[in-house]
Amino acid sequence: MALPEKIQERIEALRRRAQEVDPDLATEVAWLADLYIKLEHNLLKLSRVSDRMQSQIMELNEQLAAAAVTDPLTGLANRRGTMERLTALAAQGDAARFVLMLADIDRFKSINDTFGHEAGDQALVQVAERLSTAVGDEDFVGRWGGEEFLVVLVVPDRAAAEARAVRLTEAVRDQAITTPQGPLEVQVSSGLCWHRPGRSVMQTILFADRALYAAKQAGRDRFEWWDEPAADDGADTG
Ligand code: GH3
Ligand code: MG
Ligand code: MG
Repeated sequence: MALPEKIQERIEALRRRAQEVDPDLATEVAWLADLYIKLEHNLLKLSRVSDRMQSQIMELNEQLAAAAVTDPLTGLANRRGTMERLTALAAQGDAARFVLMLADIDRFKSINDTFGHEAGDQALVQVAERLSTAVGDEDFVGRWGGEEFLVVLVVPDRAAAEARAVRLTEAVRDQAITTPQGPLEVQVSSGLCWHRPGRSVMQTILFADRALYAAKQAGRDRFEWWDEPAADDGADTG
């Protein structure tokens, strides 16, 4: 980058005036001017480096922020990212009504024990992909932890929620998962609970977890609702 024209002109004028007064003074002025120009160039270089570093730091910060909310294995939102998303959804006032589905892979420990941890990881990745493909456009899938996925179903009523829960359960079950150790049959059990305005997200998760426990007790590879005392249909209440 060149020096601003005004500075160049003033340096030249100074050189000429010094030449008129005394050739030695002109030599001194020329030396100082060269030094000044070199320093100015170095300063420009430094400020370019600093600009570059600043944008690299900003980029790294963005990557760090994304990594903090992403599960590296499946690429889904991790527990923290999932919680952030849920909290944002729940903050939408009267619109904060959705079905929360807590899905847990059945007998996953024995998959690990029989086929190895790597095959278990493969199963997690493929289950994540299947759930993500089978949900609706407005839905959300996060990895809640271990072999548990938290799914937000944005549905108008109980029937629609059940249709989607069936689709998700079948998407996991209907095709064997491919691993280097051979095909693997995987199934999930889920607990479903309406999230309603005024209820805390953690409470909804707790209810969905109880329903999940009921699904496990009832034989796995299925879903159960958290049954509330009142009719539990998001379309009819509130
Ligand atoms: P259930 O049908 O009752 O849910 O039985 P389960 O075997 O699925 O449940 P359990 O809680 O006994 O075992 C879960 C296993 O998931 C234990 C743990 O080692 C494994 N696991 C958790 N996270 C990972 C992971 O990231 N990769 C692999 N390969 N395994 C994991
Ligand atoms: Mg579990
Ligand atoms: Mg399990």
